[in-house]
Amino acid sequence: MALLSNLFFPRTCPQCGLGVGEKTARGRLCESCLRRLPRTEQAVLKQNETELTLADKRLERAAAFLFYEKDHPIQRVVHQMKYADMPEIGYQLGRQAALEWQDTEFFADLDVIVPMPLHPRRLRERGYNQSEYIARGISEVTGVPVDTSHVLRSRNTPKQALQDGENRRQNVADAFAVVRPEQLYRKRILVVDDLITTGETMKACLKAMRVIRGARISVFALCKAR
Ligand SMILES: [Zn+2]
Repeated sequence: MALLSNLFFPRTCPQCGLGVGEKTARGRLCESCLRRLPRTEQAVLKQNETELTLADKRLERAAAFLFYEKDHPIQRVVHQMKYADMPEIGYQLGRQAALEWQDTEFFADLDVIVPMPLHPRRLRERGYNQSEYIARGISEVTGVPVDTSHVLRSRNTPKQALQDGENRRQNVADAFAVVRPEQLYRKRILVVDDLITTGETMKACLKAMRVIRGARISVFALCKAR
């Protein structure tokens, strides 16, 4: 079926509409749009904006690949990846980050990649977890396995976009749970998210992960809002 649909619907870049070839996956950005997305260079920046936002001294490292800005093409890319059934964009960009950062230490010495979990109900509605696609793109380049079975979303929270400040913080607190944490003891874990804005969701996730004894945790976000 996949082959057939490729024959009848030539693939176009979801950003500019340019053809990207019949054999590439739907939702793949063309080279020119890919190049134009705003890189952060945070892989080699100590005290970068992502680290400062998360403000967690126990983190090994934290960085985002791209800057997220409203009314910039990146806004549409993120929207398509999350809400328009184009998770392949996440896979492509995760892979791209791993390729571009191959000469840095950022993805070195990891045992497992854990995507930011979605609540099962949200996952059913959307049909996919975009952070898992990002994680799988990174995994393809680095060879580090992806784990979706230990860190879970235990409580559904209203959409973050509708909240702010204290409400937001209250809402995500205790929204995560780690099951069978002993299986991750002493592992070097990379937590992957699509977009870090205030950092409250990631902080809540990291807080839940403190039950994993001896773990060395790092954070990768595809985008960091400015
Ligand atoms: Zn394009």
